[in-house]
Amino acid sequence: MPTKLASIEEYRKLVDSYDTFLFDCDGVIWLGSELIPGVKEVISFLKSSNKNLLYVTNNSTVSRKDYVKKFEKLGLTVTENEIYGSAYATAIYLQKIVKFKAEKEVFIVGGAGIKKELELVGIKVSDKVIPPMSGTEDIKKILPDSKIGAIVCGLDLNMSYGKMAFAHINLMTNEDCLFIATNDDSSFPVENQIFPGAGSILSVLVTSTKKKPAVIGKPYQTMFDSICASHEIDLRRTLMVGDRLDTDIDFGIAAGIDTLVVYTGVTTEEEACNPKNSQATFSMGSFGELSALID
Ligand code: PLP
Ligand code: CA
Repeated sequence: MPTKLASIEEYRKLVDSYDTFLFDCDGVIWLGSELIPGVKEVISFLKSSNKNLLYVTNNSTVSRKDYVKKFEKLGLTVTENEIYGSAYATAIYLQKIVKFKAEKEVFIVGGAGIKKELELVGIKVSDKVIPPMSGTEDIKKILPDSKIGAIVCGLDLNMSYGKMAFAHINLMTNEDCLFIATNDDSSFPVENQIFPGAGSILSVLVTSTKKKPAVIGKPYQTMFDSICASHEIDLRRTLMVGDRLDTDIDFGIAAGIDTLVVYTGVTTEEEACNPKNSQATFSMGSFGELSALID
């Protein structure tokens, strides 16, 4: 069971024990378009205490530049270097780990954030547009393209059978075509509801191709590796703060760092305390509770 922190002494000890705080965003810092009460004050307090604050999000629909704007809108100042989104981490993976060939193109099943991040690191994105289908006869017109060197799948609000079919046919006919997913969250929260996430869209291609993608976002370690490549991370003095056990807390556990689950997002206290689920090191009602430390 996570150790529940509820007193000023426990809050102080938490802050003193870590130099780097990795934050999940939605459910920890904000909920949808609303800041979580107290969090803004806690963030400025941690900054003035010389802590390193990094934001790690699986949301691939927005680029780091867009995230900076979102923070600004909420009255929080961040730089792009402090933000690790799954679209950015996918771009870095293609550029630095896979060393994606300059003459090849990526076909994206996903949002504008992925295209922006890939193009910023010089990766060519296919501009293939697949017209709507009026019947199964139209499927015959979907042919593989030898220029496609990778399929990147994220949350696509405009997913269509044609796009999935084009991604599928390239993966099936070209052994060298890479299969990459920005993240595989089954769902994500919108207001008080959950809706199908990137993982639900990905499952179409996993089912049809029977292939296993390289998944970049939390809980997988590619995002952590990319953080470690550009920041000095002392594992013993780094804390992952999140609202979701199967992404944030598992991400921290796999990285070998301590974790804090908060109950301002998708996980309830009952779920976090259930021994069948991943166990965070600590728990708190809200990260904003640390504002009790500010005079
Ligand atoms: N994917 C999408 C499209 C989202 O909108 C969100 C949250 O807003 C997430 C994933 C989860 O993001 P995070 O890792 O910041 O909780
Ligand atoms: Ca979250």
